[in-house]
Amino acid sequence: MEIVLDCACGGKLAVHEGQAGLRLPCPQCREEVRVPSLGDLRKRNGVVPTTNPVFEIAARLRSGELPLRECAGCAAPAQWEVPLVAECERASVESNEVHWIWLLFAPRLFFWMPGWGVRATTREYGRDTVVKTPITLCDSCCHQRPSEPGEWGATLSRACFTGGLFACLFWLPAGAGLIGVAFLLATWQHRRMRAFRRRLSKWFGTVPAYTELRKEYPRLVLHLGADPRPLAQSVLSPSLRLG
Ligand SMILES: [Zn+2]
Ligand SMILES: [Zn+2]
Repeated sequence: MEIVLDCACGGKLAVHEGQAGLRLPCPQCREEVRVPSLGDLRKRNGVVPTTNPVFEIAARLRSGELPLRECAGCAAPAQWEVPLVAECERASVESNEVHWIWLLFAPRLFFWMPGWGVRATTREYGRDTVVKTPITLCDSCCHQRPSEPGEWGATLSRACFTGGLFACLFWLPAGAGLIGVAFLLATWQHRRMRAFRRRLSKWFGTVPAYTELRKEYPRLVLHLGADPRPLAQSVLSPSLRLG
């Protein structure tokens, strides 16, 4: 794309991206005109540079623009920072392992299953993208912050399900009852997790840089760190952030 540069004499000089950084003679006065850098030329052309929001957040954390000095919950001045981990992408793992539970129903599957008994292979695709960033909170929001629900609801549910399947082999009502309990436990765990994630998402949404991250990775999962730290003085004092 051609860009027209102005010379001090009023002459016009048409350049293209390949000439970025060069000094070219003005067609009118023959004086040298400096062609701007490639980035500046593109900016003049209205080309917005695209950067991955992950790098953008890292740059903002380095420059001190992040974390914000306002509370993510209520916009009051913040006193605490809590580590927040955004899991953007996980490497996907493919495995040919067969869960042992199937042996319970079809012991003979063991002999039929092609490849069963062959060593399990696990392949990994892609890579993990995890962004660690503190979120800032005021005193009262920090005290009321949700804690990540433990996994024990899910563990108990799995145990009940397995126990239920086992019990079915001996006494059907007991087995069905246990499977029912497993289902209730799983629902309860799911609800707790959802409430927790919804609250975190609300906080996350108050920081514009993070909204970009969510656009790039719609399935991102948030985790909140356990211990809050008093907000660093360098972050609180604007004078220290200059330069
Ligand atoms: Zn000129
Ligand atoms: Zn607050």
